[in-house]
Amino acid sequence: MEDTCGPVWVIAEQIGGRVLAVSLQLIGHARRLADELGTFVEVVLLGDDMGGKAQQMFAAGADRVYLGDAPELAFYQPELYTEIIVELAKERQPEIMLIGSTTTGRELAPLVAARLETGLTAHCVDLVLDESQILEQRVPAYGGLLSIICPEKRPQMATIARGVFPTPEPDENRTGEVVLLDLPDDLPRRIQTLEIVCGELEGVPLESAPIVVAGGAGAGDLEGWRQIADLAQVLNAALGCTRPAVDEGWAGLETMIGQSGKMTSPELYIGVGLSGELQHMVGIADAQVMVAINNDPKSPVFDQVDYGIVDDCREFVPVLIAKVKEYRKRK
Ligand SMILES: Cc1cc2nc3c(=O)[nH]c(=O)nc-3n(C[C@H](O)[C@H](O)[C@H](O)COP(=O)(O)OP(=O)(O)OC[C@H]3O[C@@H](n4cnc5c(N)ncnc54)[C@H](O)[C@@H]3O)c2cc1C
Repeated sequence: MEDTCGPVWVIAEQIGGRVLAVSLQLIGHARRLADELGTFVEVVLLGDDMGGKAQQMFAAGADRVYLGDAPELAFYQPELYTEIIVELAKERQPEIMLIGSTTTGRELAPLVAARLETGLTAHCVDLVLDESQILEQRVPAYGGLLSIICPEKRPQMATIARGVFPTPEPDENRTGEVVLLDLPDDLPRRIQTLEIVCGELEGVPLESAPIVVAGGAGAGDLEGWRQIADLAQVLNAALGCTRPAVDEGWAGLETMIGQSGKMTSPELYIGVGLSGELQHMVGIADAQVMVAINNDPKSPVFDQVDYGIVDDCREFVPVLIAKVKEYRKRK
């Protein structure tokens, strides 16, 4: 294939030598974009002893993997990673650069974008090419989806959360080229990550939970929030939240569902005291059955769910908990 425009890039992420699912999902989508543009998919993978992972990238849709393989790259190093990616991007001139909206990606993407003096759209929920082959970077806004474009500067950069795009079916017949990166001696080393300590996850993980209970501002206070948490516990559900619950300090950011949080696809979703803003609802777009509890019969959340309960959650939730416990005892 001849290069007609710059390649579509994915900055892959690894933790402890394991390539993250979001990186493979981005490679799969990069493949679709590159096919439309008539160009290559190139992946940048930085880590230690990662050579064996290149085939995983090819099977997901990559044509070429730039591999930075060295002990000092084992952990994400902000300055070092930025420098390597920026210098390579200046040389290869990618048309598009996709980065996972992970803790690392959220820091790395703006560092790279600033150095390349280009635009960046955070937390995209879709990426399509318009008729001029410009990337429409879609984010929820004003009750719908807004397309952000970067028509002049290159690369067109976006961060995307895990679960926005499907994980591609691996095609083990695909192969590609591995380009080993030479690391110059004068790379910046002022900041060094020495160790990554993984926290213990409490309760059921949101991404794989069959039942999700999500609470919002309508909880009112910590006591109201605890009722919602109790409901999640009796249902053996994962507990999620909206932005105000994080802002109030009732819930951790890692439990926020939506555009800038987690993507979930439960069999049952119960939204308690939340209004159904698109920035939250994009995170549960694939839920099979959706229920909302809200004291405002006109709340927009009721237009988006299968079952609506109009009530004060502080009165309804304790009754629901008691009923679930009663039902469990009878069984
Ligand atoms: C760029 C951007 C990204 C964002 N990303 C996210 C994201 O990833 N996730 C996210 O959640 N938000 C996100 N937001 C914020 C989002 O726009 C909304 O502000 C947020 O989702 C609203 O949360 P809420 O529904 O809990 O609060 P509100 O909109 O204030 O709704 C509270 C609801 O509770 C109901 N209520 C009040 N009291 C009771 C009661 N006693 N019983 C029952 N119901 C009651 C009210 O009727 C109301 O409908 C983002 C915003 C921006 C601009």
